[in-house]
Amino acid sequence: MKGYFDYASGCPVDERVLEAMLPYFKIPGNPSSVHSQGYQAREAIEKARESVAELIEAEPNEIIFTSGATESNNLALIGFALRNKDKGRHIITSKIEHMSILNPCKFLQKNGFEISYVPVDKDGIVDLSFIENSIREDTILISIQHANNEIGTIQPIEEIKEISGNIPLHVDATASLGKIEVDIQTLKADLVTLSSNDIYGPRGVGALFVRKGVKLHPLILGGGQERGLRSGTENVAGIVGFGVAAEITKKEYKEESERLKRFRDRIIENVLKIENSYLNGHRERRLPNNVNVRFSYIEGESLVLSLDMEGIQASTGSACSSKTLQPSHVLTAIGLKHEEAHGSLLITLGRYNTEDDVNKLIEVLPSAVERLRMMSPLYRRR
Ligand code: PMP
Repeated sequence: MKGYFDYASGCPVDERVLEAMLPYFKIPGNPSSVHSQGYQAREAIEKARESVAELIEAEPNEIIFTSGATESNNLALIGFALRNKDKGRHIITSKIEHMSILNPCKFLQKNGFEISYVPVDKDGIVDLSFIENSIREDTILISIQHANNEIGTIQPIEEIKEISGNIPLHVDATASLGKIEVDIQTLKADLVTLSSNDIYGPRGVGALFVRKGVKLHPLILGGGQERGLRSGTENVAGIVGFGVAAEITKKEYKEESERLKRFRDRIIENVLKIENSYLNGHRERRLPNNVNVRFSYIEGESLVLSLDMEGIQASTGSACSSKTLQPSHVLTAIGLKHEEAHGSLLITLGRYNTEDDVNKLIEVLPSAVERLRMMSPLYRRR
């Protein structure tokens, strides 16, 4: 994993997690069966539920396991809207949410709901007065991410909760979990999206925290698993892995984030020495593992390929959306022009990055930028 700087797109499964998961691939019991094999699977799921709940200071029965953050976001938005449409049909979200929020919102708009999209400032912070002015009698839900997966900006969730009072709040904590504190007692959110892979658990598992008393309509109907909110035989090994990943995160994330923050700051300091380079996102209210920079006169995609040839894997932005030539909606929302957005590079740090990795990145990046600029007619014609 040397030289890997794309943790926001995917994390390797921690060896300790993998080890804990392996026996559960062999247990045949269905967690809903009453015999001993079934009981073993059920017990493992409930232990994992406790671990995930503990990580965010929730109660175990407030955790619903899903197939990942995308499903959790769909359940939070569409599931909430379907169940609560008698109370109103207006939802507030931001312009820089992940597509697994924005596309469900589009779907709801086509089906009789109204959505207000909160703009952000040049650093990616949501406009609080816009939220305040958007709240109406029929507003049933506010959905704002905890931190942005592309530019790393951390939102003032507690202030949003203060403004919105009793209106239920959904927070997508996919990018923040394991990097900064995600504590539902502090956030006071009613629904929170969590993802396993982002904390070094397996892919294909996630969870939705559903505060006691919050009502949702299920999106997947069947045998009634997960309190009827998410039917289908549970992914036992995956859930066990998520649970162990949550235990490790609880113990280690503070120290890990301090280490990554030091790497992050060294990278930012050095990268900004390159002429015509700029930081995307807020300098301080920023995830400890996120560096997003843009370079004039070059194309992010060419830079990613060029770095890959040097043994460094980074990204141009969100790997979550399908391959399009459109610039990132997050970068355009913070006011970047198309060509500025296209010249951006996303570096995300993680558990297995070392000092050597960081030294190499700092050494290789300036010459890669310089080489590409020499090939750029725009740069030569300045
Ligand atoms: N929300 C955020 C903030 C994300 O960064 C991502 C992608 N990691 C998702 C939701 C969707 O996650 P997944 O593709 O694992 O379902």
